[in-house]
Amino acid sequence: MIIILLGPPGTGKGTQAQRLEDQHGLIQLSTGDMLRAAAAEGSDVGLRAKTVMDRGELVSDDIITSIISDRLDQPDCAGGVILDGFPRTVAQAEALDRILADKGSKLDAVIELKTDDDAVLVARVTGRYTCTTCGKGYHDTNLIPAVSGVCDKCGGTDFFRRDDDTAETVTTRLEAYHRQTAPLLPYYEDKGILKKVDGLAEIDEVTRQMNAVIQSI
Ligand code: AMP
Repeated sequence: MIIILLGPPGTGKGTQAQRLEDQHGLIQLSTGDMLRAAAAEGSDVGLRAKTVMDRGELVSDDIITSIISDRLDQPDCAGGVILDGFPRTVAQAEALDRILADKGSKLDAVIELKTDDDAVLVARVTGRYTCTTCGKGYHDTNLIPAVSGVCDKCGGTDFFRRDDDTAETVTTRLEAYHRQTAPLLPYYEDKGILKKVDGLAEIDEVTRQMNAVIQSI
């Protein structure tokens, strides 16, 4: 099963992808995480990508497309993937169609986490943080660990905030979404595979709506 999660920054794609991964045995492929890992390793591509990411702009289609194509070839992806943060442009979506056709595969569904309130998204992005050990996401007010300072999933006590989760950068990222990524909605609607869930609903309710979509596939 191959599913795309589509929505602006802060809409909960990462949180929901982690839940679908746990519940359905799918693999979450986050291009943002892959780029951050490449930057942390200090690779050429990673460091060049980081300057673009820190401005809140999109990394070039060629780089992203080749990263995701290589990743889809790994054996752990055979059981199904959730694409989180890819594609982000129509050129990437067209490249994905070609990549999947070459592999004898196809998209099952594109789930839009629908939100029309940028102020809510800014508050979500600027309040979020992640467990350094296992990658579980949290938020200062919306999603706090059961024991303060201790990760619910792995017991880790180290957390980090992303360099690009600032109020300034998120404004540029939202602009990039509206200008470059939103055109994917009619692209997938025309193919008849676009499903919508309420991205402003409470986290468990969004998961419930997503599970309903997955059952219907
Ligand atoms: P994310 O973790 O999905 O919010 O992505 C963080 C940043 O990584 C984005 O603001 C972009 O700079 C870059 N990025 C991630 N995925 C893509 C993509 N599919 N195309 C272009 N840039 C991307």
